[in-house]
Amino acid sequence: FQSLQFSLKKTKNYLEKKIKKIFFSNQENNHLFESIEEMLLLSDFGVNTTANIIKSLKKEIHKNNTADKSEIFLILKKILLNILNKSSEKKTKINQKKPKIILIVGVNGVGKTTTIGKLAYKLKKSGNSIMLAAGDTFRAAAVDQLQIFGKKNKVPVIYNRIGTDPSAVIYDSIQAAKAKKIDVLIADTAGRLHNKQHLMEELKKIIRIIKKYNLSSSPEITLVIDACSGQNTLQQVKLFNNTINVNNIIVTKLDGTAKGGIIFAISDQFSIPINYLGFGEKIYDLQEFNKQKFIEFLFE
Ligand code: GDP
Repeated sequence: FQSLQFSLKKTKNYLEKKIKKIFFSNQENNHLFESIEEMLLLSDFGVNTTANIIKSLKKEIHKNNTADKSEIFLILKKILLNILNKSSEKKTKINQKKPKIILIVGVNGVGKTTTIGKLAYKLKKSGNSIMLAAGDTFRAAAVDQLQIFGKKNKVPVIYNRIGTDPSAVIYDSIQAAKAKKIDVLIADTAGRLHNKQHLMEELKKIIRIIKKYNLSSSPEITLVIDACSGQNTLQQVKLFNNTINVNNIIVTKLDGTAKGGIIFAISDQFSIPINYLGFGEKIYDLQEFNKQKFIEFLFE
């Protein structure tokens, strides 16, 4: 958790300054709600989630009949934790047989391929045999990059020529993973959003192929989003979730932003579990998302 803490410093420093000013200064604050609202909006909580938080805050303050700023701060912290807890409610049970298949989806540049390298490292370290599938057959760089991560982790990578049907690569990799009795197959996919319709059809086809050739078991669909993309990410979650039912989310590039608020916006509006946070380009820069610790660190 320490390295994640280090990477979240930007977000923390930013919030800390605002929180100190709002809750712990001797100054009279006649505009408490406006100040909190501004802090949340500027931290990328988004308009809807900010409005929800302010509404809950007013309700709780009324219920507790308090005007004490340090008490209000604790109430706010609790509301924020409740928002993060919403994301555990939607945990879906995935019918999976060996090999477990994790399908990594998301738009170009969010960090899909890098995240696959990190996940492979983590899952291998905890004792799983891993195989990677280069399902982004659109970009040569994506295939090359996956091979580099394969070498680093000493895990096999199944790939095909650029331009081939990604479903064919997925089919080949399922066969190879079965033959080698692999525990977890992690599949990369394309993310060219300028051709949304085509991309979504391609992803649906990949999922059909997986169900058909992997003993009817579903893939775990993991959406990767970039914390630096701000409110755009909400549109991405909506698009992918509406078409292919996302099981969980990985948020990357938390080291590059002072706006960790997007994590709260996603939990609040989609209730999709956030499994991991990515905070750097190195293979070990991925941490399981611990809600309690995350809140404690940001608002301690
Ligand atoms: P893809 O197009 O979604 O597969 O994205 P890539 O994995 O190629 O990543 C795009 C860029 O973001 C690369 O330069 C990565 O090194 C970088 N990147 C990925 N994850 C992180 C992260 O957590 N933090 C930082 N700072 N950079 C990242």
